[in-house]
Amino acid sequence: MMEDRFEQVQEEAPKEINFLLAEEITRETGNPVLSCFQCRKCTNGCPLTFAMDYYPDQIIRLIILGQEDEALKSRTIWVCSSCETCTTRCPNGIDIAGVMDYLKQKAHKKGLVNYKNNPSYAFQKVFLENIFKTGRVHEPKILTDYLLKSGAWKQKLENGSIWRDIKLGLFLLKNRRMRLFPPRVHTNGHGLPESKMN
Ligand code: SF4
Ligand code: SF4
Repeated sequence: MMEDRFEQVQEEAPKEINFLLAEEITRETGNPVLSCFQCRKCTNGCPLTFAMDYYPDQIIRLIILGQEDEALKSRTIWVCSSCETCTTRCPNGIDIAGVMDYLKQKAHKKGLVNYKNNPSYAFQKVFLENIFKTGRVHEPKILTDYLLKSGAWKQKLENGSIWRDIKLGLFLLKNRRMRLFPPRVHTNGHGLPESKMN
């Protein structure tokens, strides 16, 4: 049985492996991805595998095999919450969370994602834009930007869940768990307060 599977894998394996992506990631992020020996400790500790299309160890494997498109188009890189559990567990010192971030940036630069086809991307973008602009998180702004840009408002309006969200928002405002207006922090455009600019 095992031999059959081995033969199949050999049959399907690319004849020439392209190491360029692995070398690029090692150079750009300092992560020795080629030292991965597929122990799966990263995947076994990851709390979000249920929502991924490839497990974290498989993403590393795709990188090693030079399967760039597969890695960049995967849902996994956007599902990853950068909790770094995998990074802590890797016996080879690979910062898998950092690798996921690198792949996200590369997918973004190559224009492979947009607000509509990827709600995780939409959320990450509006979150970072909010931080860069105000230096602090302003939840009502993030939520409204997210709903509008991702197009999620349409679905919420259709299924009625938008009213539950509004009710929750009003409850949080009333109990001072959320601010109506953004905090007044002057930033340098990169999320840092002006006092830290010099
Ligand atoms: S824990 Fe590290 S060595 Fe093990 S599979 Fe994951 S990346 Fe590879
Ligand atoms: S950083 Fe991402 S891949 Fe690693 S354990 Fe957390 S969610 Fe999973």
